[in-house]
Amino acid sequence: MTCRYCGESAGWWRRNCASCRRLLAAFEENRGADFQSMMQIFRATGVAMETIEKFLEADPRGDGSVRDQIAADMTNDLMRALGNDTRQTAADVKRIRERGNWVNLDRRPTE
Ligand SMILES: [Zn+2]
Repeated sequence: MTCRYCGESAGWWRRNCASCRRLLAAFEENRGADFQSMMQIFRATGVAMETIEKFLEADPRGDGSVRDQIAADMTNDLMRALGNDTRQTAADVKRIRERGNWVNLDRRPTE
């Protein structure tokens, strides 16, 4: 089978390749970490940067990429800190981003 995240061969009995399974485990263990910390965690797994990038942009269920989920988690933490209990999902982030109103909270500002 083909890996649902990076598109590499995952072996016939697997839906995700070994690299993406490692990234997914690291992601689940560290939900709520900000984007920069998450990138450090991903790099620490030893997975190639190219694969990490594909993993971030992958949207295997169609409800938001890993990048969107990280952004949603960050937004929810911020909202909670401000006393707002409205939950944003990765799908919400995806919708906002696709409308073009997304302010790139998860990226470094460009100089
Ligand atoms: Zn993969």
